[in-house]
Amino acid sequence: MNYKYSHCVYIGRFQPFHLGHLYTVEKALQLSEVVIIFLGSHQVAPNIKNPWNSEHRQSMITGCFDAATRDRIIFAYVRDRLYSDNLWVSDIQKQVEMITDASDSIAIIGHQKDNSSYYLDLFPQWDYLPIDNYQDLNATAIRDLYFSGSDDWQRSSQLPPSIIADLKTFQSDPEYQRLSEEWRFIQQYKKSWSVAPYPPIHVTVDAVVVQSGHVLMVRRKASPGKGQVALPGGFINPSETLEQAMLRELKEETGIKVPTPVLKGSIVGRQVFDNPDRSQRGRTITHAFFIQLKSGPLPRVKGSDDADKAWWMSLSSLEKNEPRFYEDHFHIIQHFISQI
Ligand code: NAD
Repeated sequence: MNYKYSHCVYIGRFQPFHLGHLYTVEKALQLSEVVIIFLGSHQVAPNIKNPWNSEHRQSMITGCFDAATRDRIIFAYVRDRLYSDNLWVSDIQKQVEMITDASDSIAIIGHQKDNSSYYLDLFPQWDYLPIDNYQDLNATAIRDLYFSGSDDWQRSSQLPPSIIADLKTFQSDPEYQRLSEEWRFIQQYKKSWSVAPYPPIHVTVDAVVVQSGHVLMVRRKASPGKGQVALPGGFINPSETLEQAMLRELKEETGIKVPTPVLKGSIVGRQVFDNPDRSQRGRTITHAFFIQLKSGPLPRVKGSDDADKAWWMSLSSLEKNEPRFYEDHFHIIQHFISQI
């Protein structure tokens, strides 16, 4: 069979892979010999927007196709680079270059869903194959039903049968319980702000404290991100400056045995992190402070307040732990340590 393209790129999170996604892959397979499915948001710690990791998503999608079709699908994983579209595009370019030859004809397929679909325009070197909205299916609405505990998510014929079976099995996983709890927390949180005349914009602070090749981390005690690895930090109080709030949160959550003047004098950088999707609670802008302490024995720390544990994580183990990091805290640390 003659195909118009040798390869067709399809990027998405597929949380979960619904009939609109399936329809798109089938279209791509009609036009292209090989379809490269990029599983986005690779290594994100599970949350109600990205509940399933890349390996699980790949296995769910593979289960929707027969063996002959599977041979024409290549999976690739791509991390988010929340603060650099150029790095994200370059990751995708590199992977496509490894899969294809210079003589190959490449297209990218997708649907302009909303503003978040702007990334489809970042690949002008490939033909763009637009897809119409398929039956108005919406993965967010499916996840809302699924985590709310309603059975309607499986009755609505929006999902391929093998995905329904997989999601039913996942309901007996403890992670489903944790995510359902998180889903309820976020709904309640948003409801409590719904009476405000404008959507709230929250302001938080985070402390990136580094000493002798280690960064100070906490484990979150409660939703959202219960059990995930985070920077010490939190919301500012009305009467505080950002710096005061950061020092207060740092002391409260880690009990770090370093005098406040020394912490203040060791601030060597600060940066705003404002990706509109960085928090599931709603628009949250954080101000991160980089505190570089003098080399020596690591100060004693102990988790308290919103943290049930505080410890010094070696910089070498950051990448290994990436899928455990809350929100964009991994990216925040990467930003500062690349300047050390
Ligand atoms: P998605 O699973 O929501 O959608 C995948 C594709 O399916 C999209 O083309 C979408 O428009 C389409 N689609 C959805 N509903 C449809 C329907 N009913 N009918 C037909 N098509 C439908 O995934 P997504 O969120 O669009 O994935 C984008 C990925 O790229 C994410 O992982 C995002 O984080 C990543 N990204 C990263 C950066 C960065 O890190 N700098 C920048 C842009 C995008």
